[in-house]
Amino acid sequence: METRIAACSCGRLRLNCAGEPASVSLCHCRECQRRTGSSYGIAAFYEREKVSISGEFRDYVRQSDSGYKVTQHFCPHCGGTVFWEPERKPQMLAVAVGAFADPGFPAPAKQVYTEHRPAWLTLPDLI
Ligand SMILES: [Zn+2]
Ligand SMILES: [Zn+2]
Repeated sequence: METRIAACSCGRLRLNCAGEPASVSLCHCRECQRRTGSSYGIAAFYEREKVSISGEFRDYVRQSDSGYKVTQHFCPHCGGTVFWEPERKPQMLAVAVGAFADPGFPAPAKQVYTEHRPAWLTLPDLI
């Protein structure tokens, strides 16, 4: 089974993710814009038992646009927001696809909160 590694910028927080993600979603919500410092975030959802975590992390809780809480985890050394726990999907961990730094990572199958997508941003049609 293929294992992919997501890591923070300083490399001290690492997630080994076994197998294929259950789903991959591109999110335009404002919280993802703030978290990433970019125009959108991409989340890979994995069943919790497929992810093993090494290194320290801290967390904070935020509200999401959907009304469910999100517990965001980050590296205390570099601040990288590598993974989070969505209250809406308690059996899953969401991993920031950018943290894999792998252009071959499976493409997102959907995009959400497109009402917050910048007008200049064009993306291929996603299902
Ligand atoms: Zn770090
Ligand atoms: Zn979002």
